[in-house]
Amino acid sequence: MDHVADAHDFLAYVQASPTPRHCVAETVRRLEASGFVPAEPGDGTDRGYAARAGSLLAWRRNGEGPVRVVTAHTDSPNLRVKPQPDTRGAGLHQLGVEVYGGVLLNSWLDRDLGLAGHAVVRGADGIETRLITIDRPVLRVPQLAIHLDREINTKGLQLNKQQHMKPVWGIVADDDERSLAELLGAELDVEAADILAFQLMTFDVAPPALWGWNDEFIASPRIDNQLSCWASVAALAETDAPGTQVIALFDHEEVGSTSATGADSGLLADALAALVGPSPSDDSLCISADCAHATHPNYADRHDPEHQIALNGGPVVKVNANERYATTPLGHALFVDACERAGVPHQVFVSRTDLACGSTVGPITAARTGLDTVDVGAPQLAMHSARETTGSSDPGFLRAALAAAFESS
Ligand code: ZN
Repeated sequence: MDHVADAHDFLAYVQASPTPRHCVAETVRRLEASGFVPAEPGDGTDRGYAARAGSLLAWRRNGEGPVRVVTAHTDSPNLRVKPQPDTRGAGLHQLGVEVYGGVLLNSWLDRDLGLAGHAVVRGADGIETRLITIDRPVLRVPQLAIHLDREINTKGLQLNKQQHMKPVWGIVADDDERSLAELLGAELDVEAADILAFQLMTFDVAPPALWGWNDEFIASPRIDNQLSCWASVAALAETDAPGTQVIALFDHEEVGSTSATGADSGLLADALAALVGPSPSDDSLCISADCAHATHPNYADRHDPEHQIALNGGPVVKVNANERYATTPLGHALFVDACERAGVPHQVFVSRTDLACGSTVGPITAARTGLDTVDVGAPQLAMHSARETTGSSDPGFLRAALAAAFESS
């Protein structure tokens, strides 16, 4: 296993993927480089993918054998631009934003922010959807100086989502009618009036990096959950296991998965029915891959003392008695077996009994497909920060574990 090469490949993937649609586009690029072709699950293609807006299905069929599914999600919490975004304050141009998902708001302050997403424009050939990437610092949400908020370090930072999170992008000059539409028009090379609608989100333009004395760590946006997307794509591209292997990368996990392309749609269940029929065999397995909380050294008591989670400790199996995670003992066992065959360490997470547990797409897809499921994920710190941390060996560990899980034991 070359963990350094895996880490750098993950960083390249995440840097190409500031939004779910960009993540799908980068995934398509990688799948096509590995011989996958655009297809539909029922059309008999053996190495196919189907992109659906910010979600994607890809599959490989190789004769008789078990069904193995890996799910992950393409979306991450961020700030999203309102439909009529132009606003001003104290002589500065600003944008109105909505908060998408469970954002750690403080982590978006004082960062160099770009804008990315897609717009629907009226072009020469009619209505078309275009990706947008403004990969330079055009926005910033400046923090209030401590002198103007003396109690911040004793009472904590209080941020109102409507009032305090509006990014600044310019100084208002005399007769200054500049607007976001003008910037988008220049980026897309269309008249501002021909931009009919858009979905735009902010992202930190600082490149992801290895850090630590010996580069033990990765600092990057969107580790939750593009790390799992990257690992599932890499594992699918390299496998030659018998049976049927499927990856499902879903948008909208951070807001509950109920959407046309989210995990609570028919996307995966319909694809499985088309690929392998209505009742997959008993040894079928769904691996729901989404990041896990590593134990934070400054808050170690937030974890159960017998379930401490280490960075570079390998994939984490997530267990919850109340079905917030879908892990079954059989799913757990099959994943542990895969880790052992891959020579990858693994860990087990259960939350403190007096703390509410997070969740992910595992219980949703388990309910919709009936597949035995295991919830797993790479360990990370600062989940939902604009810049998160994981171990620099953890991308390689997860990729190798998923590749082994595609093989039946
Ligand atoms: Zn997640």
